[in-house]
Amino acid sequence: MSIARVLPASLLFVLAACTQNTMTTTTARTAPVEQDNPLFAESKLPYQLPPFDQIENRHIAAALDAGMAQQRREIDAIARNAEPATFENTIVAMERSGQLLTRASSVYGNLSSSNTNPELEKIQTDMAPKLSAHSDAIYLDSFLYARVKALYDKRESLGLDPESKRLLERYNVMFVRAGAKLSDDQKTRLRQLNEQLSTLTTQFRQAVLKGVNASAVIVDNASELDGLSESQVAVAAEAAKTRGMPGKYVIALLNTTGQPPLSQLKNRALRERIYKTSINRGWGGDNDTTALIAQIVRIRAERASLLGYENHAAYVLEDETALTADAVNKMLAQLAPPAVANAKNEAADMQKLIDAQAKASGTKTFKLAAWDWDFYAEQVRKARYAYDESQVRPYFEMDRVLRDGVLFAAHELYGVNFKERKDLPVYQEDVRVFEVSDANDAPLGLFLVDWYARENKRGGAWMNTFVDQSRLLGMQPVVINNLNIPKPPAGQPTLLTFDEVTTGFHEFGHALHGLFSNVQYPMFSGTSVPRDFVEFPSQYNEMWATEPRVLANYAKHYQTGASMPQELMDKVLAARKFNQGFATTEYLAAAMLDQSFHQLAVGQTPAAGDIQAFETKALARAGVDFSAVPPRYRSTYFSHVFASPTGYSAGYYAYIWSDVLARDTESWFHSHGGLKRSNGDFLRDKILSRGFSSDALQQFESFYGKEPDIGPLLESRGLTVTGSAAAH
Ligand SMILES: [Zn+2]
Repeated sequence: MSIARVLPASLLFVLAACTQNTMTTTTARTAPVEQDNPLFAESKLPYQLPPFDQIENRHIAAALDAGMAQQRREIDAIARNAEPATFENTIVAMERSGQLLTRASSVYGNLSSSNTNPELEKIQTDMAPKLSAHSDAIYLDSFLYARVKALYDKRESLGLDPESKRLLERYNVMFVRAGAKLSDDQKTRLRQLNEQLSTLTTQFRQAVLKGVNASAVIVDNASELDGLSESQVAVAAEAAKTRGMPGKYVIALLNTTGQPPLSQLKNRALRERIYKTSINRGWGGDNDTTALIAQIVRIRAERASLLGYENHAAYVLEDETALTADAVNKMLAQLAPPAVANAKNEAADMQKLIDAQAKASGTKTFKLAAWDWDFYAEQVRKARYAYDESQVRPYFEMDRVLRDGVLFAAHELYGVNFKERKDLPVYQEDVRVFEVSDANDAPLGLFLVDWYARENKRGGAWMNTFVDQSRLLGMQPVVINNLNIPKPPAGQPTLLTFDEVTTGFHEFGHALHGLFSNVQYPMFSGTSVPRDFVEFPSQYNEMWATEPRVLANYAKHYQTGASMPQELMDKVLAARKFNQGFATTEYLAAAMLDQSFHQLAVGQTPAAGDIQAFETKALARAGVDFSAVPPRYRSTYFSHVFASPTGYSAGYYAYIWSDVLARDTESWFHSHGGLKRSNGDFLRDKILSRGFSSDALQQFESFYGKEPDIGPLLESRGLTVTGSAAAH
């Protein structure tokens, strides 16, 4: 459930890597494909929707190459302009640059996620290093930076409006963070460090992948698999055959500490074996990652120091809503005690169940261990919230959920209207297009809906854009939501699970952030906000899925039209608070581990042999060392933070940070009369229309009237009560 900004809209702001600039050799001007390439000109369709019926794979690769070359020429002209730097001829000119690249990369990014093919995949492999080099060439161009800096130094006397001044400041920050201020020697060192980081994180990614495959658990007898379904056993048998072990069973692992079969397997010894295999990945052996972690952490610390920061976390967080490591530490430290206390209550409930079952069967009881958690949690869940998915799905027919739920809530809150357009081309027949208009009928943009799963679509759910709003370029937004709902056979209704319904509302929150964007500059458009802020509008929008008036409008039986019975809905809602002590604790443990590694200065980082001790100590210091609830990722397979040069390093906390803002917003709505225009318009004015044109935390505080607080989040997860009867 993320924003898939595969390539940023204006300039590509990845941290400067290291490769030579290869752009100068591109000769796109003479490429013959230009003649008939529909991406070379602005689309004539409404809102500049890409002409999908004319775009072929070959057009995309050619337009990307030509787009980079074009932007390189534009940037060269800006950097080497004989006129002195002005805001217009430098900063605004950069914002205007690269429009062909933006057009091509939005089509390429979207199609390679939603509707890919082998040719597009090959383009992806070829383009990644080229695009990275293209970005370097811009941010390490010393002539260009000299102009930016000259303007930045006299920013107070330029008479700029607030958004323009902020744009200048952002460009300066981006250049500085990419290393533009360094001496030539330092730049050389920075390139070396980036290059090493790129190699080491790739090695980490490959080792984790090999490790997860190599650690699949082999089982000799089907009897040990008691608890799994017939089809799961068949899958395990098939996996064994593929691996040349006919007659045996193979349980493949996921790259998390927890493994789904643990909730079903009755055989305690096998549960223990799977669990231990999972948490022991990467510590020594063929796919050891400890040496890589030690080097990655050391290099990040050195790079931060080179760029003038105390540590890597300080470098990363300066550009986030949180701003400082102290702010992150403080928030995580506030959340940990109630999360762990609730996890311990959940454990106590399960221990009672284990003791009672042992007594009833006359066997010896045992202490709940990490490998028992999911198995007994599932039993407690069934006993308390028994309902069957097949009971609820008939009330969640897809089209009704979309029109009478998701879009209905937006109409009630913001007055916007949606009209389906069947006359516009799409890239796949299941994609739907809605034209969005404002309460006063003014056209707002296009909303594309691609909710069905396909073999050539990546997993998960996300929002993306085809066109970003900006007044500078006169663009109105074209946004898309992707989900992965299995498509039923022809003639049958598409009935959703409640999770899928919630995901639909979630992604639409991102969509509104894009559609309501009303900013001058492309840099600040819509969802171009820090990653610890970007999930906030979407996590907030989930609240409307369960608002009684919205629910009554869409949750109707697909055959009879009857409303969903209240008792059934109550069970569905109550079950969502179940096991949240565990879920929050395992998440916080990983988030704190991430911060611990990245808040170290040069010279403090652990050696390979000390990683395990470092991890143990970090969890203990953070107060999340409850052995029944291990971190969601241990260091050796924590891909979010070690498998790419930036990724979520020092940023894994972002999910819960956004959720704090979202639940604060939910409580604000509840105390201001809920679902009504004045409330929606206020949120739109303060946050949803502003993109990143002003500071994110200030946007939030101007809406909420005070600093964020964690109370509503704790309440929404059922983590407020810590007495012994809490988890009921
Ligand atoms: Zn999201």
